[in-house]
Amino acid sequence: MRHPVVMGNWKLNGSKEMVSGLIKGLDAALNGVEGVDVAIAPPVMFLDLAQQLLSKADSKIILGAQNVDLHNSGAFTGDISPEMLKEFGASHIIIGHSERREYHHESDAFVAEKFAFLKENGLTPVLCIGESEAQNEAGETVAVCARQLDAVINTQGVEALNGAIIAYEPIWAIGTGKAATADDAQRIHAAIRAHIAAKSEDVAKNVVIQYGGSVKPENAAAYFAQPDIDGALVGGAALDAESFAAIAKAA
Ligand code: 13P
Repeated sequence: MRHPVVMGNWKLNGSKEMVSGLIKGLDAALNGVEGVDVAIAPPVMFLDLAQQLLSKADSKIILGAQNVDLHNSGAFTGDISPEMLKEFGASHIIIGHSERREYHHESDAFVAEKFAFLKENGLTPVLCIGESEAQNEAGETVAVCARQLDAVINTQGVEALNGAIIAYEPIWAIGTGKAATADDAQRIHAAIRAHIAAKSEDVAKNVVIQYGGSVKPENAAAYFAQPDIDGALVGGAALDAESFAAIAKAA
């Protein structure tokens, strides 16, 4: 059985004070919540503080990060390696977010290389896929998602998706308040799963596919009621302990 995963992507937000408050608030609000894995991805600057706070509270919250480099050491100015992320307790690493694809020109092939490198280093990739508004209007949603997934499947085999997480995030729904309807999201999730099932029924059955894009406490339950939606990747609402905990509880 697939286990839902609700992950908070904090993006470029936070300060020491904010991180301390949010983690303490989250840990308290999530006390006793079962049946869902909850993860947070703060900016890497705050991983040390987050790790200390989570370990002091004996928290079950999983630590993650928002990006990774393709090397473990060397002359790569400004980059962060899987080894470093591991040292600070981060296990679930977001890759291929549309903001990185757009602002840092990350290609499908480059994201696929990151996917392979995370697996090689024993970390869990959270692979973001999703279409732009124009692609959505042109009816290309499933083709775009399939192409982004195939960059991994065609180079590493479908089994590479075992243990990884896929986050379907329609770009037009990110930070806009214009969330996909639960029915529309389910339709795309089912198509993504079918695309994987064409290569391996087993992998398709077990892989976690999150929805992301304007997930809020008010709409979360409708997504999680869908058979192919296994949790959420949450941006804005993850910066508020009560809202994020309410989303996790709905899963
Ligand atoms: P919002 O929840 O703010 O729409 O962001 C979604 C997202 O990009 C998570 O990675």
